[in-house]
Amino acid sequence: MPRSLEGKLAIITGASRGIGAAIAANLASKGCNLVLNYTSASSTPTTTALATSLSTTHAITAIPIQADLSTPTGPASLIAQASSAFPSSTVSPFRIDILINNAGIALNAPLQSVTIPDFEATYRTNVLAPLLVVQAALPHLPTDRSGRIINISSVSSSTGFVTQSVYGGTKAALEAMTRTWSRELAERATVNAVNPGPVEGPMYAANPPEFMAGIKGWVMHTPLMAAREGVDSPEVVEEAKESGGRPAHTREVAGIVGMLCSADAAWCTGQVVCANGGMVMLH
Ligand code: NDP
Repeated sequence: MPRSLEGKLAIITGASRGIGAAIAANLASKGCNLVLNYTSASSTPTTTALATSLSTTHAITAIPIQADLSTPTGPASLIAQASSAFPSSTVSPFRIDILINNAGIALNAPLQSVTIPDFEATYRTNVLAPLLVVQAALPHLPTDRSGRIINISSVSSSTGFVTQSVYGGTKAALEAMTRTWSRELAERATVNAVNPGPVEGPMYAANPPEFMAGIKGWVMHTPLMAAREGVDSPEVVEEAKESGGRPAHTREVAGIVGMLCSADAAWCTGQVVCANGGMVMLH
């Protein structure tokens, strides 16, 4: 049986680890070829190893591409490098079927501590970079509505978590752009966002105790975040007693993204789709 994304090409920004790497694994298992973007030189070995392992396991082509998307030229460089790696032929022009805007940075700062450099760095990475990546990808998107663009937002766009006036603002901006792009690119691709809540990994682990205390009530009221003895690991069950529940596994967020990339999701665009266990129910 042919795999559902066989022969397609996806570009995933921020794919060296965390949610981006899990999305890469999900799409690779469906036969999708991949560009795995990252920025730090220290992530070159892990991203190269991930590309090799996914290529071997799933008989696809996956390549790592280093590009700092927070710079004015980084997004265009990413698309140019991808185009060189997957050259056009007369029968198959270079085409970006799926674009996942996942790269992002977090900032926890109470209002009085927000600095202009922190504001600018966070907005450059989380807002300007996805815009410039989509701009650069535009000539290469499908022309038959089969394209898929997924922007990785956060519940922070709508929960008003303390210390996240900047981070939450960037994700609200990303969701606003999602709606505009769903109209502007309607003949090319569906455009949706997903909004994870807490997800396992260094970004979540780096949250200070005051922040964790502030979101505990939200966590306790999230239907799927209750930790389960005998299902979740003993460490997760123990930690959940303190934080109120368990964070998502990266594969759980990747599964929602994979669903939106499918042909079956063709009638869904301009949405912020739940990837948070029910932490946020209304949009
Ligand atoms: P990680 O911090 O684990 O990974 C971030 C990824 O983004 C890395 O691959 C990193 O590359 C890349 N990256 C960062 N800056 C740039 C840049 N300027 N140019 C290119 N790549 C860059 O993040 P997560 O997996 O935790 O988060 C992924 C997305 O999910 C983000 O948008 C985040 O805001 C969102 N999110 C995360 C949540 C969480 O709890 N973790 C919750 C809700 C949303 P490198 O390795 O080279 O540094």
